[in-house]
Amino acid sequence: MAWSGTTAARGVAGALAARGLELAAGLASLLAPRACVTCRRPLPPGGPARHEAWASALCPGCRGRLGPIDGACLGCGAPRGPHAAPSRRCAACRGVPLGGVARTTALWRYRGVARRLLHAVKYEGREDLCPPLGLALAAHLAALDPTWASTPDLLVVPVPVHRWRRIARGYDQGAALAAGVAEGLGRPLVAALERHRTTPPLHGVDRDARDEVVAGAFRCAAPGAVRGRPVLLVDDIRTSGATLRAAARALRRAGVRRIEAGVLAR
Ligand SMILES: [Zn+2]
Ligand SMILES: [Zn+2]
Repeated sequence: MAWSGTTAARGVAGALAARGLELAAGLASLLAPRACVTCRRPLPPGGPARHEAWASALCPGCRGRLGPIDGACLGCGAPRGPHAAPSRRCAACRGVPLGGVARTTALWRYRGVARRLLHAVKYEGREDLCPPLGLALAAHLAALDPTWASTPDLLVVPVPVHRWRRIARGYDQGAALAAGVAEGLGRPLVAALERHRTTPPLHGVDRDARDEVVAGAFRCAAPGAVRGRPVLLVDDIRTSGATLRAAARALRRAGVRRIEAGVLAR
């Protein structure tokens, strides 16, 4: 009895010690000054609602500098400029084939605060920001076009990163982002695409050559799930559009009916 009593006491003491360490770690993370991902100023305490949780990574000043794109080009998602007709595409992408992506909608311009925020998501382990950012993108899409949330057979499909990149990073930001978009729109998330070929980072590649570099990088791993359905492709960023066009090609081959794209920034 004495033996088992001692063992039990040790077990309780051990559990208490472990719990104590957990609590201390929790308190330390609460007390540590959190910093704005953009300007590194300390953040005020308290957090916003979940759908705005991405904003908790920014100080009020940086948050105020982020405004959604208004009056965007349907072809590439960039601001069209004040005088362009709503039906026209912007000067930068007019004449560039859409490549099967009927419309691209972006939340922000890829610069300043948005650029820093996406950098934190991609290279600084801030996976936690992806689902709330996805919710923010869903809210932007639904505000621009309420049919997004009411298209009954719409599927949300992430543009995936290659398996090696996912292993190196520990997560796939596009998939986490798309999960937030799917939740926000109330539509199913289907990881239908596979990136079966690694591609070099496109920022070093000539714009005209980008389509060639990523052509054939994707394949549809679940054609039965997407055939005949409209799809919203989700990615963190659109630059030249080559990645979205390559992903769209794989979906078109699988029989997807209509493809649109939603991105955080462009
Ligand atoms: Zn800041
Ligand atoms: Zn455009």
